[in-house]
Amino acid sequence: VIAIRDLHKSYGTLEVLKGVSLEARRGQVVSLIGSSGSGKSTLLRCCNLLENSQQGEIAFNGEAVRWKGHGLDRHPADRAQVTRFRTNLSMVFQQFNLWSHMSVLQNVMEAPVTVLREPAPEVEARARKLLDKVGIGDKAGAWPAQLSGGQQQRAAIARALCMQPTALLFDEPTSALDPELQQEVVRVIKDLAGEHRTMILVTHDMRLAQDVSDHVVFLHQGLIAEEGPPDQLFGAPKTERLRQFLSATM
Ligand code: ATP
Ligand code: MG
Repeated sequence: VIAIRDLHKSYGTLEVLKGVSLEARRGQVVSLIGSSGSGKSTLLRCCNLLENSQQGEIAFNGEAVRWKGHGLDRHPADRAQVTRFRTNLSMVFQQFNLWSHMSVLQNVMEAPVTVLREPAPEVEARARKLLDKVGIGDKAGAWPAQLSGGQQQRAAIARALCMQPTALLFDEPTSALDPELQQEVVRVIKDLAGEHRTMILVTHDMRLAQDVSDHVVFLHQGLIAEEGPPDQLFGAPKTERLRQFLSATM
């Protein structure tokens, strides 16, 4: 579904991604781990074209966006293509970013109604089902500020799902939460993994990565230092770098 090839990304003279290739096939959960600053968020943001790249390719369902700029920061994708990527690769951020002036239900309905121009009654029915699914059906009429962090993040996940995306991109969905609240979000992510949804998950939670992933990628200083099935990466890491990282985080 998503194929990234030889992606390079610099901010000025700082080269953050130095040629990363990665694939998430339909129904696959790919986790991205690595220390702070290794480029995980940058990679995710490139995936749904929130960032320009300088070199490389991102293909989604066979439709490719290519960069070849030698430092030029040009965006090769047209608006329709950007919209297609963003609606199909729905992102959930560390800070839930709910719109504070809208009810929870309105938050979930907003993009399908305004961006995809779907009929509101249809979207509302779907949104209510999704809020039930993530366990906050009773909070539909509440304001985001009236929800706990874990509930806000579950609302953000419902909002991402309401776009009916092909894949979900999670950027540390639990790390802004207290440990007790993390579990309720973890449960939702595990449910989604159990449904074989395509996901790329950036996480500091190694247990979660181990439990839900089909494939784990360890990013180190802008390059993939090691990748493989979770049992192998967590059980028998091959590189010294990954061993060090795991002993520091687990
Ligand atoms: P963390 O685990 O802390 O979230 P990360 O792996 O997600 O880290 P990125 O956010 O991708 O790391 O950042 C990678 C590097 O790129 C960092 O050195 C960061 O300072 C730099 N960087 C990120 N965004 C920008 C930006 N908009 N402008 C300049 N530098 C940036
Ligand atoms: Mg990050």
